[in-house]
Amino acid sequence: MLTLEEIVENGLCIGCGLCRGIAGGDQIELVMTPEGRERPVAKQALQEAVLERINAVCPGTRIPGAVAPTGSQPPLFDTIWGSAYHLAIGYAADPLIRHRCSTGGILTALGQFLLQSKRVNFVLHVTASKTQPMRSERCLSFDSASVLEGAGSRYGPAATLVDFSDILDRQEPFALIAKPCDIGAVRNLAQIDPRVERYMRYALTLVCGGASDLSKSEDVLERFGVREEELSLFRYRGNGNPGPTRVETKDGRAFELTYQQMWEDEAKWMIQPRCKICPDAIGESADLAASDVWPGGGPTGEDAGFNGIIVRTERGRELFEAACAAGAITIDRQVNFSDFDIFQPHQVRKKRAVWGRLKGMEAAGKPIPAVHDLRLSECARQNTVQQNLAQARGARDRAKSGRLGEPRAAARTS
Ligand SMILES: Cc1cc2nc3c(=O)[nH]c(=O)nc-3n(C[C@H](O)[C@H](O)[C@H](O)COP(=O)(O)OP(=O)(O)OC[C@H]3O[C@@H](n4cnc5c(N)ncnc54)[C@H](O)[C@@H]3O)c2cc1C
Ligand code: SF4
Ligand code: SF4
Repeated sequence: MLTLEEIVENGLCIGCGLCRGIAGGDQIELVMTPEGRERPVAKQALQEAVLERINAVCPGTRIPGAVAPTGSQPPLFDTIWGSAYHLAIGYAADPLIRHRCSTGGILTALGQFLLQSKRVNFVLHVTASKTQPMRSERCLSFDSASVLEGAGSRYGPAATLVDFSDILDRQEPFALIAKPCDIGAVRNLAQIDPRVERYMRYALTLVCGGASDLSKSEDVLERFGVREEELSLFRYRGNGNPGPTRVETKDGRAFELTYQQMWEDEAKWMIQPRCKICPDAIGESADLAASDVWPGGGPTGEDAGFNGIIVRTERGRELFEAACAAGAITIDRQVNFSDFDIFQPHQVRKKRAVWGRLKGMEAAGKPIPAVHDLRLSECARQNTVQQNLAQARGARDRAKSGRLGEPRAAARTS
């Protein structure tokens, strides 16, 4: 069993907030660290029972695979991509939603459809903070307008699950739209808290290349000579696909970077350590996952917005088919896993690399997450022995030198 400090300092924390969500704000607070990461800090020594629950649910200590089907087996399977009922390219039928959202608006359109069809009472997702628009905060949307307000990719820290226990206490059916690690955390919680299965009716996710430190966004402000207090808007993408990163200030100034300008230098992505060993960045434990569909993994220009859609569970299939039938989403064409290999080459590389990286961390004497049903060794077998050795040795050396770890979590002082 790891302490909260060990989870953080070994680079396993992604700042989902679930430890605080289940232990309560009187025991754990989330702080923004000097590195620009949201991290939990225990306000007092945690009781063993609390720590046991945290170890059982934390996506840094336990990472689950697909939800076991209750009926027919999913007909589609791929070693890298896992199981699926449908693979398609589509977009939100409403052109305004399609334009406004991150990619093609599938997640927003499905969130709105879930509310309109009364399948759920609210959607838990994230949105830009109203007071600090560069930061993200968890949001409960009870109507379509609010779901749309949360549209767009938020690449910085986002503690979606910071009050998850309070959300279950509401005893209302809801849907979660969040990153794959957030969904995995909640699936972990479902093993020990029956309220998750009772109230969380749908879990939708985005295919995820990694969450950046807030420092990545702070660099953008520095580039434009803007202070965070001056901001009225910080949008990473959307209003087109991918659309620009747009910054607006309260006194009416506006600045933009193209997606390529924002992400051209991989050395400056500032991706959090947990993401570098992520065994499930493609949302195997969700009901449905949405992605970009750029051949080669990056945009070459703007387009009208097309999502890759992976329907993973029977619930996801029912939702997908009902949303198509109701005209909430439009399907452009059916695709295969080999198309996803072309759209997401970085995800294929990562899925093949993670087994070696975890072995390397183990060899360095570091703790690693317990990974269930994600076929990591089978994925690694698609590499050459030399490639796996290189991944393992690289991770071992980085872990030994502390580069896969993090400083002790502490709040920023300014
Ligand atoms: C951190 C991150 C990494 C990504 N990496 C990839 C990648 O490797 N490959 C790829 O194809 N696409 C990636 N994307 C983009 C992703 O493909 C699109 O968000 C997805 O296609 C959904 O598009 P959409 O138009 O349906 O989303 P929208 O309709 O705009 O809805 C997005 C939903 O996601 C929620 N959300 C946004 N950011 C976060 C966050 N940080 N944490 C929790 N919930 C959030 C919003 O609240 C909203 O409900 C990434 C996005 C993020 C946030
Ligand atoms: S990953 Fe989530 S549950 Fe685990 S320590 Fe970090 S904030 Fe807590
Ligand atoms: S890469 Fe994995 S750990 Fe990182 S934000 Fe995405 S799903 Fe979470």
